[in-house]
Amino acid sequence: MIDYHLHTARCCHAMGTLEEYLTEAENKQLTEIGFADHFPLDLLGFEPRKQVTMHPEELPVYMDQVANLKKQSSSVKIKLGIEIDYLPGTEKQVEELLGKYEFDYIIGSIHFMGDWDFTHPVYADDYKHKDLDEIYHRYYELLAMVCKSGLFDIIGHIDVVKKFGYRPQSNLESTRLEIARILRETGTCLELNTAGRDAPVGEFYPDRDFLAMCHSEGVAVTLGSDAHAPEQVGRYFPEAVDLLKETGYRELAVFEQRKKSKQRL
Ligand SMILES: [Zn+2]
Ligand SMILES: [Zn+2]
Repeated sequence: MIDYHLHTARCCHAMGTLEEYLTEAENKQLTEIGFADHFPLDLLGFEPRKQVTMHPEELPVYMDQVANLKKQSSSVKIKLGIEIDYLPGTEKQVEELLGKYEFDYIIGSIHFMGDWDFTHPVYADDYKHKDLDEIYHRYYELLAMVCKSGLFDIIGHIDVVKKFGYRPQSNLESTRLEIARILRETGTCLELNTAGRDAPVGEFYPDRDFLAMCHSEGVAVTLGSDAHAPEQVGRYFPEAVDLLKETGYRELAVFEQRKKSKQRL
């Protein structure tokens, strides 16, 4: 089994060394892991209210450390990924920046609406003072943009706007279908991200219906725990594998130097 969404202490809100994540993966008998720490927001010209990514000078160090870990003998294959924030208007910048580095895969994720980090527990109360239909509408608007950009190999935690359990009145079925179709057209993958089970919402990203919709539209899927601590590596994976199979998936997408291939579930 693979876990393609691991963080490191560099992002200022995760714990543990790379070696500790690897040891955990070995103990849990994973076959492949990928680090996907947060790309420096400074390089996109964005300064969040709270530091949630590594600093620009740490990026080469992060890349070196993962490269060194790859050289260690282990039963677990290691990949170098990165999770980049999608901020509208930064597409050109991201494209240029990505040309400079050699990653195995890029996860594109939405954490910000304007300067609001709507995925951060510190700002979770803001949902109470906002119109939930508007929040969801804006989120899915951004999601359509990030999927259409074709810049990313994988879209991270695709319905993360539900993280704190706030739900809209409006029906999102047709919006989601449109997203699934854009993913297929651009050849972009989604991830089944198991972190949501530990968030107030208590379910994976995405939920069963959205996942089934992606499967019937022919969208490839990968798997990640979004671990911010070593013990979270591979969290809820037996349940995730069952869900993937129930929704029709038989393969997971894996990446090497941004080339996608498939692995049997
Ligand atoms: Zn994080
Ligand atoms: Zn994320």
